[in-house]
Amino acid sequence: MNILVVNCGSSTVKYQLFRMEDEDRYEVVARGIVERIGIPGSRLEHRSALDTFVEDRPVPNHRVALELVIAALTSGKTRVLSGVGEIDAVGHRVVHGGEKFTGSVLITDEVLEAIRACADLAPLHNPPNILGIEACQELIPGVPQVAVFDTAFHGTLPEYAYIYAIPYEYYEKYRIRRYGFHGTSHRYVAERAAKMMGRPLAELRLITCHMGSGVSFAAILHGKSIDTSMGFTPLEGLVMGTRCGDIDPAIVFFLMEKEGLSAKEVEEILNKKSGVLGISGISSDTRDIEDAAPHNHRARLTLDIIAYRAKKYIGAYYAILGGLDGLVFTAGIGENSPYIRKSICSGLEHLGILIDDERNTVRRKEALISRDDSRVQVMVIPTNEELVIARDTWRIARGMR
Ligand code: ADP
Repeated sequence: MNILVVNCGSSTVKYQLFRMEDEDRYEVVARGIVERIGIPGSRLEHRSALDTFVEDRPVPNHRVALELVIAALTSGKTRVLSGVGEIDAVGHRVVHGGEKFTGSVLITDEVLEAIRACADLAPLHNPPNILGIEACQELIPGVPQVAVFDTAFHGTLPEYAYIYAIPYEYYEKYRIRRYGFHGTSHRYVAERAAKMMGRPLAELRLITCHMGSGVSFAAILHGKSIDTSMGFTPLEGLVMGTRCGDIDPAIVFFLMEKEGLSAKEVEEILNKKSGVLGISGISSDTRDIEDAAPHNHRARLTLDIIAYRAKKYIGAYYAILGGLDGLVFTAGIGENSPYIRKSICSGLEHLGILIDDERNTVRRKEALISRDDSRVQVMVIPTNEELVIARDTWRIARGMR
């Protein structure tokens, strides 16, 4: 089965074409990204097993972007399909599934309507996801289209973990609650961790640390997410590239008053100018911060704050899990930064977390980085959200044949 996985952001379309025999036997035959959609400088970067090309050309909207993707798959030197009719199903990443979707679903008119209704909760993310779905329905008609939600894996959070201590009526009226994000990634690495540990996921207590430009941790008990650091929006939780994570909400009102800012302006500061960028004043990329740290106090401070806050979440999740079997690092920072992994784990020896410095030099591949005498197995596991989307799409589409 040929499955196209599509991930539409506000100005990007990322995609991969999977050729799947079954869940474990597959090949990625093409992949790429369309960037700067709707803004000057847009381009397509496409790679297939046969050839690679970059094309700079105006891409006014998501529909045109997907037309280019289909042309790259079905024509020229990168042609891996004889026509669009060879695509058997399309899997879409959808950021917010609200309370309604706790698993992946076939997209019907009702489902699309429900995804639209969730757009209120994710005004930046769901609208481009919807544009991608609509464009694919037109361009690749008559095949199953499946939605895989970032929030779905956290649908198992208990009520006491997702209700905020604000008047309950706001939950009833607006569905203000913790949803959590990066669910596809947490789910994937948890499953891989169980395989690496050679134990059933249903027996394990895991903490999964997704550390990319967005950062979220999840406490996973017996395969189910029981808590996660992102909340109503991806702004809550740990220190991120440009997002502040947890702060005292009173800071918002203080800033509005002292600086004469509107709610929108403060939201922009907390989402785009805070986190690693805000503390360091250098960059949102931790690579730049690691480079600057030897001679710059604020760069060092940034790294110290990242590690300190990560330790606090690990401690909290250790407590609610009733112990810990595995700790997993994934995404850009988690897969690539031995320094940050080490600084998070050092001082946690009393929890049974013992890092092996030699093993911890690993980048971008699955590896155990704890010592053999460590009670908790610490792992690096590159995430693969696209594979989860392809597998869920395969399962749903296969059932329809
Ligand atoms: P996104 O959340 O945008 O998908 P990624 O998971 O790719 O992001 O993570 C991006 C972040 O990962 C970068 O901002 C950078 O801080 C960090 N990163 C990526 N590669 C490396 C590396 N080789 N060493 C250290 N940090 C890295």
